[in-house]
Amino acid sequence: MPSKNTIRTLSELMENFVTKGLTFARDRLYRPLREGGLGLITLEQYVQGLHCSWFKRAYNCMNDNWKYDLYWAGGGNILSIKKGCLSKELGTVLTGLIDSYTDFQTKYTQYGNNYEVVPVLNNVNFGYGRNQSIKLDANFFGMDLMRTHSGTINKLCWKDCTVNGTFVGIRMFNEHTGIPLNREQYYDIKSAYTRARKKFFKEGAEHMQIAEFLSSFKKGSRKFRKILGYELKEYDILKLTQVNTLARITNTTVPSTERVKNMYSIWGRAYLNNDLRVFLLKYYNNILGLGNRIAHFVQNAENRCAFCLVANNPDPVPESFEHLFFSCPVTQNILKKFFQKFITKDLDAEIFFTGSGVPGNEKENVPFSLALDILRYILWQCKLNKRMPTIANVSDEVNYLINIIRTTSKEMSELFEHCTMFIRRNGPDNGGDGGDADDGHGRG
Ligand SMILES: [Zn+2]
Repeated sequence: MPSKNTIRTLSELMENFVTKGLTFARDRLYRPLREGGLGLITLEQYVQGLHCSWFKRAYNCMNDNWKYDLYWAGGGNILSIKKGCLSKELGTVLTGLIDSYTDFQTKYTQYGNNYEVVPVLNNVNFGYGRNQSIKLDANFFGMDLMRTHSGTINKLCWKDCTVNGTFVGIRMFNEHTGIPLNREQYYDIKSAYTRARKKFFKEGAEHMQIAEFLSSFKKGSRKFRKILGYELKEYDILKLTQVNTLARITNTTVPSTERVKNMYSIWGRAYLNNDLRVFLLKYYNNILGLGNRIAHFVQNAENRCAFCLVANNPDPVPESFEHLFFSCPVTQNILKKFFQKFITKDLDAEIFFTGSGVPGNEKENVPFSLALDILRYILWQCKLNKRMPTIANVSDEVNYLINIIRTTSKEMSELFEHCTMFIRRNGPDNGGDGGDADDGHGRG
């Protein structure tokens, strides 16, 4: 692992590269897409993920010296090796691997209800006493037990000493676990369990042993990164400033969490072209170069609506978000015709800006919302080129882009296929035979 300073310097280089020309809060760079972030991967976790994938290799096949070294250092158990608890010194490379794998185990314990099935020995998440500061390590179990019961202690997890989430009685403990703890040890480990359950138990969450986790995927480090990046705290995307700003400037209400998550992560989809993705990111985060904003920092810049000017409207108004995308007479004309031609719903600001055509049904809303996103993107292109949009051009371009998406993404294609918000043109039974908003162009 490079030094902290090197990691910091490299990370800053990448952050600056990514945010060049983009106003985006630093604390949102590494947040997941569906939580309104840019979804960057921290360099540290990236390296740690790679380290962990070497552990997976060592665990799967013992055919190399370095793998044997790990095996012996972990007392015959590669999967629960932790830094600071090795039976012998290893070189810097293996020590680096173990450091990363230790961090992984810490996060893995916190993920889902995994805390029930990971070994408690030397696990930093578990302890008793003030702030759980006394850990369940070799000192806790004592030299004698560590010598006579090391195999059992190494494997001991909370699931072994509980029944339906309740710690077994003192008399039962030995029978359940095979470890003859004394009275004091029993009450201490029971207290550690109570704290652990309070901290990590999640209703309905799954648990999986690390060995099972390792064999649940073929290769790569992505799965490790997912765990390494796991955080107990949850974001509330409905509290995101940008989400509330968008609702305010469009005079709409903030839709459901699922809807908002889909709106704010749509730009990250690989089946959309790059210009469209950049537009969507800027659109939803309200950082488009609109007239009323540009005029704040560019002297003598035109702040009036580009469409009103091109259309020679008698009193062009400042180009605001809401005006350009909705209430401008030029835009209204296009939107009304577009809805009449392709959409089963009436034009309405709430539906138009939130994409919430069937509230609570994201299978309907995702394709519907994307069609509207593309419509706004085309309007934005017209605005940039100071070109008057016509319904014929706009529909052609929207259909063209939707067709490309449908040939690229099977998942999206099916959503479009079954969306009830598009007017079907191929027969009355809406039989899902390709008729949709593509107005007879077929599916490419
Ligand atoms: Zn206008």
